[in-house]
Amino acid sequence: MDLLDTLTAKGLRGETPTREEALAVLATTDDELLDVVAAAGRVRRRWFGRRVKLNYLVNLKSGLCPEDCSYCSQRLGSKAEILKYTWLKPDQAAEAAKAGVSGGAKRVCLVASGRGPTDRDIDRVTDTVAAIKDADPAVEICACLGLLSDNQAERLKAAGVDAYNHNLNTSEGTYGDITTTHTYADRVDTVQKAHGAGLSACSGLIAGMGESDEDLVDVVFALRELGSDSVPVNFLIPFEGTPLAKEWNLSPQRCLRILAMVRFVNPDTEVRIAGGREVHLRSMQPLGLHLANSIFLGDYLTSEGQAGQTDLDMIADAGFEVEGMGESTLPRHRADIAAAAAATGGCGSGSAGGGCGTGAVSGEGESESADAAVGGGCGTGGGCGPCGGHGHAVPAATVGATDDKNADRAADEVRTDLVRVRRRGAGTELAPNA
Ligand code: SF4
Repeated sequence: MDLLDTLTAKGLRGETPTREEALAVLATTDDELLDVVAAAGRVRRRWFGRRVKLNYLVNLKSGLCPEDCSYCSQRLGSKAEILKYTWLKPDQAAEAAKAGVSGGAKRVCLVASGRGPTDRDIDRVTDTVAAIKDADPAVEICACLGLLSDNQAERLKAAGVDAYNHNLNTSEGTYGDITTTHTYADRVDTVQKAHGAGLSACSGLIAGMGESDEDLVDVVFALRELGSDSVPVNFLIPFEGTPLAKEWNLSPQRCLRILAMVRFVNPDTEVRIAGGREVHLRSMQPLGLHLANSIFLGDYLTSEGQAGQTDLDMIADAGFEVEGMGESTLPRHRADIAAAAAATGGCGSGSAGGGCGTGAVSGEGESESADAAVGGGCGTGGGCGPCGGHGHAVPAATVGATDDKNADRAADEVRTDLVRVRRRGAGTELAPNA
């Protein structure tokens, strides 16, 4: 297929496709799906080899958020029967983090519900980071605390935080449909604040909220322009008790097309399969590893994932390997830029097509790696993301009619059996899943 040859050649050079090419990936048929995965898989291996980065979520503060993000089980007015608790103490958080690191995670994602942290909250996170790094200084830490005020990113950086996660979630055009208590521009501002302070920027999306293909492409290109080092791809977990509980719009095939599109647009960026992996990819999860180079180990913020050992077995069975603590996640050209930005507190790695960043790199061969350890951050399960109510529009430029029978079938089924509220780990007396 000409499209896939073009996308592969561009990806191997570190170049982004056109918007029309990205839309065409989403419009491929089920008959073409394995070819799409194979093409995007070549790009993934070019920059990340067969490594899979493991990240571990610690929900520092769960539920009771005053914001109204429609997709989120922790939102204002949520009836979802999730765990609700206030800030974990530093030693409790460090204990939870230790379980993830013991299981193979190199990054710990410290997440707290809420609009954004107070300065006292930054103190709490500072103490927590110290407790985690005392136990293992090599652990990467990503904070996900909501909208940042002036100087908070700098304080997190000084505390030893490596990255900050704040997802754009959906396109600018539809952001107001999923959240009314803050704006898309607020989210962009926080990603820029984090980046400006020298934190590695982690920012991603949520698919399956009823958005169009154009919305998905818009947000993925926006993330590339923002210079996100890590792009978590969340698949909506339609929690009972939230406004999007009936939005079962995704099939495993659709998820794979989305991951492939994200990979082609972000060839040399960490792409992470985040919340909803087990719920929507189901038995097709191993194919997702050919597209993404990063996943969460074990449970999510408010829902349970598959057993941590099952994650590890899946990676080994699919012929991939867990990325080691001393290995760089990003390819050398991206890691060097990010490391320089971290040292100067300036703008880090960026897009191939503009923004503050890195350029295309030529040549195909062994995957690149670098010495500096840099990576993405955390994600979902109710993290920071958006919604919709828009049909799946088929783009004008396609290589074939979208085979959407799977999407139709998925929309007819409400699979409440697939969503398990988290009842173990942080905030409970039970051992974490890692
Ligand atoms: S995504 Fe974050 S800000 Fe939005 S409701 Fe959930 S916890 Fe609150």
